[in-house]
Amino acid sequence: MDLLLLAVPGALTTVGIIAYGAAHPRAQLFGQTICRTSSPRKLAITFDDGPNPAITPKLLDLLDRYNAKATFFLIGRYVRECPELVRETVARGHAVGNHTETHPNLFWLTPTQVRIELRLCHDAISNVVGAAPNWFRPPFGLRNPWVIPAARELGYRTAMWTLIPGDWHGKPAEWLISRMQPITQHAARSLANGHNSSVDGSGTGDVLCLHDGAHRQLNGDRSRTLVALEHWLPRWRDLGLEFVTIGEAVSTPAP
Ligand SMILES: [Zn+2]
Repeated sequence: MDLLLLAVPGALTTVGIIAYGAAHPRAQLFGQTICRTSSPRKLAITFDDGPNPAITPKLLDLLDRYNAKATFFLIGRYVRECPELVRETVARGHAVGNHTETHPNLFWLTPTQVRIELRLCHDAISNVVGAAPNWFRPPFGLRNPWVIPAARELGYRTAMWTLIPGDWHGKPAEWLISRMQPITQHAARSLANGHNSSVDGSGTGDVLCLHDGAHRQLNGDRSRTLVALEHWLPRWRDLGLEFVTIGEAVSTPAP
C-alpha cells in the first residue's frame, strides 16, 4: 500500500478541521466564542467595520427611533479618524467592540502581529471613550489558535453570530431584506406561544452581523443596510423582540 494514499485523506481531514475551526462562526476549536443571546426575546444587532461618517449617524437615529441598542465592532484606524462619532455612539447607549486596527486576515498572522492588531485598536477605543471595550470580533470571523487567547489577555470575550446576511455584496435592498428573514422566522417560532428561555430553559436568540462600514475605505456605501433595518426593525419590535447590546444579550434573562 502506498503510504501517500493513506496520508492524503488524513491530511485533507486535518485541513478540513482547521478550516472549520478558523472560519465557522459557531466553531469553538480555537477558543470559546459567544454566538447566541440568552433568550429568544433578545436580538443582538451588531455592526462591523465602522465608524463610518456616511452611515453611522443615520443608523444611530434609526436605532433611537426603536429604542434599539446595538454593538459596533470598530476598526482602530477609523476610530482615530472619527473620535466624535465613536463618543456619540457610546453616549447613545450602544456598546463598542474591538475589530482590530487594520482589519487583516488574522489567520495568517503571528502571535505578536495578532497582539499588535488587537492592542492598537484597544488603545484607540480606550483613549476616545475613556473605557476599555470588553468585546472582540475577528475580521472576516477568522481565527487561528492564538487569536482568542490574545483577545482574552486584553480582557475580551469574542463575539461571533448566528446570521450574517452579506450586506457587503452591494446587492439590492430587497435581496438583503429577504436574507434577514430567518431572524423573523426564528422569533415568530420561539415567541408565538409565549416561549422563552425562562419557561423552557433552552431558548436562545440571534446575533445578527451587519456592516455600517467598509474595511477597505472610510465612507463606504452601506445605505442598503440602513434600508433593510428600516424595513425590519418595526416588524421585529411588533413580534416582541428587544434589541440589546452583546453584553445585555448574554446576561441571564429576568424570571
Ligand atoms: Zn469586518
